[in-house]
Amino acid sequence: EDRKVDFSEQPHELSRIKKVIGVVSGKGGVGKSMVTSLMAVTMRRKGYHTAILDADITGPSIPKAFGINEKAMPTELGLFPISSKTGIEIMSINLLLENDTDPVVWRGPIIANTVKQFWTDVIWGDVDYMFVDMPPGTGDVPLTVFQSLPVDGIIIVTSPQELVSMIVAKAVNMAKMMKIPVLGLVENMSYFKCPDCDKKHYLFGESRIEEVAKQHGIEVVGKMPIDSSLAGACDKGLIELFDNTWLDHLAETLEVNLDE
Ligand code: ADP
Repeated sequence: EDRKVDFSEQPHELSRIKKVIGVVSGKGGVGKSMVTSLMAVTMRRKGYHTAILDADITGPSIPKAFGINEKAMPTELGLFPISSKTGIEIMSINLLLENDTDPVVWRGPIIANTVKQFWTDVIWGDVDYMFVDMPPGTGDVPLTVFQSLPVDGIIIVTSPQELVSMIVAKAVNMAKMMKIPVLGLVENMSYFKCPDCDKKHYLFGESRIEEVAKQHGIEVVGKMPIDSSLAGACDKGLIELFDNTWLDHLAETLEVNLDE
């Protein structure tokens, strides 16, 4: 079945968005938002104009990681995203809700429509790389969201506790249906590096990620450890200060694969 739609929704006339990268996962809680945020930070450090469209409408965690407390107010021109401390442009449902704790209980079509409006009505300005934190899973909601955005490539995030081979197969099939290239696989919570002995501990056993990636002809572009200082930085809204090299290879992959 070919569900690729002829994408005709134009972004706001004041938006010039070069590349859109979707970040997907098999289920919630594997670190999809974390990878989205760190990728945006990594590309921003390289000097690119970077944006995050938080399409994880029912679990929006991006604003908190960046310590954003203000709300996005509609203007006569349209809706401006909120700029992070280092200048990453962010739009999330939490920037529009009066209370961060308000639950969002919308159904798929409304979610997809909101995401579409984040694309069409937000004044993004000049963006080199837009990262989209997709709704978790490979069901109807992420699929509908995919059809509402002109995604250039996807990053799949997995963790070793999951049924990785099934999840990767589903995500790869979804990408194929949409005719979107898979840029690579990131394994989050791969291992824990002991701060005392410096040894890597594979808490969930040695991962099979390389083997699974090979089966699908895709590349493992990054492995991230469980890191309590990373979690702490997110809790404090200071993800932009967190230093790491875990996603440098992925960043280079983006520069090579997506630049004309
Ligand atoms: P998802 O977007 O897949 O639902 P999140 O990115 O929100 O998952 O991560 C879930 C929780 O796990 C968050 O509290 C986050 O701070 C934490 N977390 C994610 N990755 C790591 C990591 N590598 N080390 C430590 N904590 C992590």
